[in-house]
Amino acid sequence: MTDKKRIRSLEKSSRVLEPNREEREGLHIAAENWLEAFLNELPSKPAWREPDGSVGYILKIPIPEKGRDLRSILSEVDNHITPWGLNTASGGDLGYIPGGGLVASAYGDLLAAVINPYAGVYASSPGAVNLEARLVQWMAGLIGFEGRSGGYLASGGSLANLAAVVAAREHAGLSSGQFSKAVIYLTSQTHHCVTKALKVSGMSDALCRWIPVDARFRMDTEKLNRQVMEDGANGLIPWMVVGSGGTTDSGAVDPLEAIADVAESNRLWFHVDAAYGGFFLLTAQGRERLAGIERSDSVVMDPHKGLFLPYGLGALVVRQEKHLLNTFQSKASYLQDTESENPVHSPSDLSPELSKHFRSLRLWLPLQLHGVQPFRDALEEKLLLAQYAHQEIGRIDRMEVGPEPDLSVFTFRYLPESGETETFNRALHHFLLEDGSIFISSTRLNGAYMLRAAILSFRTHLNEVDHFLDLIRRGVRELESNQREDASSST
Ligand SMILES: *Cc1c(COP(=O)(O)O)cnc(C)c1O
Repeated sequence: MTDKKRIRSLEKSSRVLEPNREEREGLHIAAENWLEAFLNELPSKPAWREPDGSVGYILKIPIPEKGRDLRSILSEVDNHITPWGLNTASGGDLGYIPGGGLVASAYGDLLAAVINPYAGVYASSPGAVNLEARLVQWMAGLIGFEGRSGGYLASGGSLANLAAVVAAREHAGLSSGQFSKAVIYLTSQTHHCVTKALKVSGMSDALCRWIPVDARFRMDTEKLNRQVMEDGANGLIPWMVVGSGGTTDSGAVDPLEAIADVAESNRLWFHVDAAYGGFFLLTAQGRERLAGIERSDSVVMDPHKGLFLPYGLGALVVRQEKHLLNTFQSKASYLQDTESENPVHSPSDLSPELSKHFRSLRLWLPLQLHGVQPFRDALEEKLLLAQYAHQEIGRIDRMEVGPEPDLSVFTFRYLPESGETETFNRALHHFLLEDGSIFISSTRLNGAYMLRAAILSFRTHLNEVDHFLDLIRRGVRELESNQREDASSST
């Protein structure tokens, strides 16, 4: 006989998983208090903090058999998670590619998680699937794609680029025996996730042609053209060219029109990785810089960069939706009820994913709540801030600046009166890390160690940039005077 008593007792215990109204209120209040404290303290918090010995403590906190109070759980977050490393929520974050993490998006995530629709399949949630389709259509409009374009919302740019590489492979009808003859055209500035995508997709044997860049780190399209011709003449299969809509290293935008010309006359798949720069299409300068993007076959753009969303959202948009369908549509007998003609394709037929977070709400909600205008203005503000900072840093005596920013990333290094340039600039970077209020990263361009600033957080304004400039000036002064003292004491 079934032990109903046991079932009832298990039910009683498992009911904890569905908090009642009063308990939910307690959760809301604890979470809200925590959030308010976090956001209020944010302006005074460092953008970078070197982890100390206590950082690993979280590894030792037991996963308990009995639950705990939310407040005490959140204090663990305060003590062991938020203080260390890069504070990407800070307006002082000018490292890698910032974004910030819009609060409005967090409400979208909260609602999405509670509703928890099956966002990958139309039959399950036509509403959620329509919402994703609507956002893809909006982005396709920004790019300038016409007709039967399509796409999907991925967890980030790397996965979106992977899906693009696989779609391009299928479009070319390449079989594994041909991979070693297939040629993909890149530059040294192409994001490393593209070569990773080749590896993941089983195409490590494909030939990578590293097309030289000009002095501004943009692809030399004459050399591209010559290389494609030569490869074709040698019996290879020119397959795909990747242009960057803002490289991560230097912020350069490749000459997309000229790449499109080469791609069209040689029937290459033209992919634009605009994970960083794509949303600058909302601004006049961005549209000018990215002209030609509408002639590509596929574009990646990351709302968790250019639209300031919390991490977890990248988008792939293709000129012809059928290329995604041909690549990713698959059938399973347990999904037979979902196979009817729908007005909108399911994300599961357009991407590698099936079950997925209802990602579109975190993007749609802020766009509806704030409207597009403040995003457009924030992006133009970032472009102008980058030009301003680049100019001001260039005014510092003995400072060498990289090219004027195409978008909002630029590089620089100090050329000290004496001593090693790289050592000095590493020390300058260290000076910033020690201070912690502004975080920048470094890179290597043409072999040289360069400091690199990226302005893209919605919380970075003139104040933060002026503070950054002051810090750089102060750092240079202090390090130069230390060096002079060292030099005089050693003589
Ligand atoms: C950030 C970035 C990527 C990778 O995107 P993730 O969202 O970090 O996976 C790819 N390409 C470029 C140009 C990027 O800036």
